[in-house]
This record gives sequence, structure tokens and C-alpha cells, in this order.
Amino acid sequence: MDNHNNNKIKTTCPYCGVGCGLIAESKNRIYGDITHPANFGELCAKGSNLAASLNNNQRLPTAQVNQQPASLEHALDAIAEKISHCINEYGPESVAFYGSGQLLTEDYYVANKLMKGFIGSSNIDTNSRLCMASAVVAHQRAFGEDCVPGCYQDFDMADLVILVGSNAAWTHPIIYRRISEAKQKNPNMKLVVIDPRKTASCAYADLHLAINPDSDIALFNGLLRYLEQTDKTDKDYIEQHTEGFSKALEAASAKQAPLSELCGVPEQQLNTFFHWFSDTDKTVTAYCMGVNQSRCGSDKANAIINCHLATGRIGKPGASPFSLTGQPNAMGGREVGGLATQLAAHMGFETDSIDRVKRFWSAPNITTKPGLKAVDLFQAINAGKIKFLWVMATNPAVSMPELASVQSALEKIPHLVVSDKFPTETSHYADIILPAAGWGEKDGTVTNSERTISRQRSFLPLTDLIKPDWWAICQVAKRLGFSDAFNFESSADIFREHAALSAFENNDNNTSSQSKRIFNLAELSELSDDQYNELPPTQWPLKMDSISQFTSSRLFSDGQFATHNKKAQFIAIPSNTSRRLDKPQASSDVVNKPHATELMLILNTGRERDQWHTRSITGKIAKLNLHSWQPTAKLHPDDLASLGNPSHIEANNLQQTLIIKCQADVQQKLGEVFIPMHWGFTSSNQGQVNKLVTAEADPYSGQPSCKLTQITVKTA
Ligand code: SF4
Repeated sequence: MDNHNNNKIKTTCPYCGVGCGLIAESKNRIYGDITHPANFGELCAKGSNLAASLNNNQRLPTAQVNQQPASLEHALDAIAEKISHCINEYGPESVAFYGSGQLLTEDYYVANKLMKGFIGSSNIDTNSRLCMASAVVAHQRAFGEDCVPGCYQDFDMADLVILVGSNAAWTHPIIYRRISEAKQKNPNMKLVVIDPRKTASCAYADLHLAINPDSDIALFNGLLRYLEQTDKTDKDYIEQHTEGFSKALEAASAKQAPLSELCGVPEQQLNTFFHWFSDTDKTVTAYCMGVNQSRCGSDKANAIINCHLATGRIGKPGASPFSLTGQPNAMGGREVGGLATQLAAHMGFETDSIDRVKRFWSAPNITTKPGLKAVDLFQAINAGKIKFLWVMATNPAVSMPELASVQSALEKIPHLVVSDKFPTETSHYADIILPAAGWGEKDGTVTNSERTISRQRSFLPLTDLIKPDWWAICQVAKRLGFSDAFNFESSADIFREHAALSAFENNDNNTSSQSKRIFNLAELSELSDDQYNELPPTQWPLKMDSISQFTSSRLFSDGQFATHNKKAQFIAIPSNTSRRLDKPQASSDVVNKPHATELMLILNTGRERDQWHTRSITGKIAKLNLHSWQPTAKLHPDDLASLGNPSHIEANNLQQTLIIKCQADVQQKLGEVFIPMHWGFTSSNQGQVNKLVTAEADPYSGQPSCKLTQITVKTA
């Protein structure tokens, strides 16, 4: 079967970074693609219920300007006029875009190009800042480029899989299924879960380390010391392929409290983990939001990578550190430079990169410095510095920390445009709304966690009232006077240019040490329309095998990295970088004891099994709502008992109050409370947990610490 044959359209799931392949026969018949290397036909509950997302009548029907239905032409004219006005009155830095890992690479590319090359600002950030930004920084620091070294096959081949800050059983179900199947085939394989909560991912775990929140650095620094002390490092690898080991070890060895006390885990469990890691060559350490969403997320990820470099376990079958991508196209967004801290195509703001991108785009207003990261962006709106914001395919009115401040920013910004398929809490504030093509209607590419580019193909018709995001962005660009640079007629046109930019002056002949990048899609820059339509799942970096199929697998197998001297870099991280909150202390008015009136707890936020983001799609699917139909706080039974076992709690922080249903959960640690992040003010008065979450962010990545906020809790 080719990719369009017999009305069977091959496409890709729009939910998570696993990037499962699907076959759509019609809007009512959609199932897993057995030929796709990400899932081989398997789907989780969300993917299995995609058809239901296409069968509802709640979508935005037409464009709106000032709450009135408007023609698309009128809305696009108004957007361009507002951008022009802001640039002329306040300068390009007053204009910002806020995008999403739900956008296709082609949407991302034109948005990034318009903002950074033509408007002349880097104020384009996305919800990937809340998702992967810390992993990006860790990759750049260690490898010289934002590259995930491993591939999904490594999960099949490993003898030890470690999940850190990842409830993959719920958030990356097909990967978790793959791990559990590998474990059944290989009885010697071990699974370790490192997470304060005992999540569903512990079902097949041989060991669960219920560490204290943010004690990951202490744990992996302790592992680094153990590897050195037990002579289990790979000295040849360290010598030939890395730099900075001594300093990293020195930082990891600074005097500190006993590790079991820092991590809150019995010494025997730590020893078991260290022993398994040191004795297992084929080890994959996969990490996700529990690592990234932290005030020290970049350092946590580098502490993990340090242990893999110290043992030479990178780029080898079954051995890799592995950042699990949250969203379907967070990776593709990073490839085009769709973050305020990147320029384009894995290039940053080095002088030669700016010059290269400027020449490639013939850009009249190339930006020369990073823009505002998500948290700073919304703070800048409140400070009156940003006058125009275009939000695409995301819902910051629910998902951002310090939500009251973000909602205030959305309320007060002079010009807010929202593009989405469905109304959201964010579109509630918009003065212009563009109805966007949704999954099944839009056409382009996404890149999953293992660097595989897959096509999302359209199989549903679009009316003249609804258009893809790339089209709307190009129409605005043309109205701003940039017709030549945005004269794209299809997503294939955009993809070819994107691939060409990735290859532009990307070779050994350039003098700059930064000019040679691993991310290079040269072979895809001249695809015909038909070849683009038929593009099979294609992993980068691209290699041609004997039967002319693109193949690839692991990065850094040859021990050559993308740094200036080709050596991977250890990052020295003192164990106290974690700044772990101490356990709640008793005070005169906040006491953790039997029959307390108020508890001080550590708030951890995250996802439910069958929900996605802010429920803008999954919340409309009855079957998916069965699993968790209302937001519920989960507390340790003893904490709940000390409050008198109420049905609802009142949680307070940042002068904000959340009243929410609660239940006892033995999987919770004492002193900690888990509240899901999906619900916003239109779906539940009890949602909006991000009202309580502080906006403190990692100093390098700007990723907010959504997993650790101290709050007070009492009976509602
Ligand atoms: Fe979709 Fe992710 Fe589920 Fe695969 S695992 S079907 S990509 S939500």
C-alpha cells in the first residue's frame, strides 16, 4: 500500500512525541499503521479514539474580529494592520508570537521566518518552553547541538531501562508498552522508575526510587561518584571522547548530607540502583517532565548525561540517555528554530549564523539576539512592553504557571490574535480569532522523539472559511510587504525551503566551528511534490542504504560530537544545585500533625492517562473523559486523615485559592499533593491548578518548575 492508496491515508497521531503512525480510511475509521517504526500498529487510548475528535460540532466556524463574525480577508487585514502599527509605534520587540508543539514543521517554519527575518524580533516562543527547553540546553551543553542520541530500538535492546521523572505508561504509552514487551522477552532486563510518586509506570518496575522532589542531581552525582569509586567508568572513552570529567566529579564530590537523606530513599535501594547501573552496559536512561520542569532542569539532564558519558554508554545499541519529547512536534519546532533562544535550523545567534540565515532568507530585518522566553514574555505583556500577541494552537490561559498573572496579561494586551480549531480559555480573551485547520485537515510533517520525520496527511476537506496556520501566516506576511519571501503555495514548498536552510553552508568547508551541524536535510530539499506526499517515516541524520531508503539510528556512535573539538562535555554540577525544598516545617499557624487545620505540602502537577494538554480535544471525547472526568487532588492517606478526610480541599498559594475534590492515594509521598494540569475555567471551577504554581524557572532554559511548589492546604 502506498501512502494514499485505496482511500487509506497514512498519517501521524497528533498527541504525543512517540509519533505513532496511523491509517485513516475515513473520519470514522482510523487505526494504527503496522509499517510505522514508532508503533508498528499499536495505539494508546488517545490515538484509538481520534475518530471521535473529528465528530463534534464545537469547532470555531468562522473568523472573528471584536467578537463579531468576519471574513478571513478582513481578519487577516486587521492582523497585518495591528502588527504594522505596533512595529511603527513601539518597534518590532513589541510584537510576539506564542506557538505550540502541535504546529506542523511547515507552520513553525514560516512563523519563525516571519518573526526573526522580517518583523525583526526573536519574540517567538512556544509551549515547548514548558516541555523540552531544559533537555535542549542539556543537549547543547553536552553534545554541542540539540540532538537526542538514541532511538526507540534501544528500548528493545537494553538490559536496564531507567525512567526518570516520566510516567511513560500514561504519557508515552506505546514506548512503555515496548519496554514491557522487551522485558517479557528478556527476563534479565530490569526497569527502574525514579519518581516521587508511585505511578502506573511502576507496574513492571524492578525498583522504584521514590526520591524527594528535585533530588535528581544529588542522585546522579552520587552515581557518578560510585562509578569512579568502584572503577566502573570507561577511562578510554572519557580520555578520547570527552572533556571535563575531573571537574564534574569534583563538583559531584562536594561535602553534603548523606545521599539517602538527600534523596529520601533507603541506602539499600540506592546501592541496588548504583550496582545495576554500573554493571549493565546496555542501559537507557529516559527522562521527561519530572526532569525538565524544574528550577534546575538543565542541570538534572546533564547530571544524567554525565553518567552515560562516564561509562561510554552513548550511541551504542541499547545504551543512551534519552529525552522523551512531550508533544508531537516539539522536535520539529526545535529544528526550525521555533524557540526565542534559537535562530533557525539548529543555529543560534552567533555572528556567522545570523549572517548565513540573513543571506538565505534575503531577510531585511534579521534579528540578532534571543527573544523573551514564555514566562518572561507574559511578564513583559503585563509590563506594557508587548502590544501584540498571536497565539497559535495552544492555551496559555490554562497551561502557564502563575496563571492569574498570565490571564491578566491576556486581558490587558492591546492586540491578541488566537488561531485554533476549537474555542479555548485563551480565545476567550482574543480580539481576533482565526479558525485553524485541525488534525486530519492539515498537511505537513512532524518529528518525533527519535528524530523521525513523519507526514501528517490531510484526508478531510477544508472550507474556504478555515485554513492551515502556514497559509494564514503567509497571508499576513504578504500584507506586511514580504510577498516574495512568503510566496509558498503548499506545505511541500515550505518543507523544501526548510530542508535547504538546514543544508545551507552546512559542511566542513566553512571556517566557523559552528557551521557544521548534524541536523542537515540536504537530500530532502529537492523532493518533488509527489515525493513529499509519499515521504515515508525518515529519521535524521539521513543516510542512504543499499536499497535507496533513508535509514539512520543512533548519533555519536563514532565518539564524535558536535562541539568545537568533537568531544562531549561533562557539566560540573554541585549536588546542592537542586535547591530541594526542605520538608514542610511546623509553624504557629501551619502544622502537619494529626487533626491539623492546615497543611504545608509540596504540589506536583502532571497529566491524567487519557487527557492531553488543556483538554481542548480530549475533553470533548466521552470515552476519554471516563477515566478522569473531573480534576481531583491526590494526597497521602495520612495527610488526608489529618485534615479529617474531607471530600474537597482548599489549596492556597500566590494569593490564589483552588477548591478541589480530593482523594487518598497510597502512591503519594507523605507531605506531597498531586493535582492534574488539564482543567481550565471553562470546563471546571475546580481546575486551574497553575494558579498555584510559581513561575520560578530554570536559569538556563527558562523552563518553569511545575513539579515543585510549596502550598498550604486545608479542608474546604
Ligand atoms: Fe498518539 Fe502518543 Fe498514544 Fe502514540 S502513544 S497513539 S502518538 S498519544
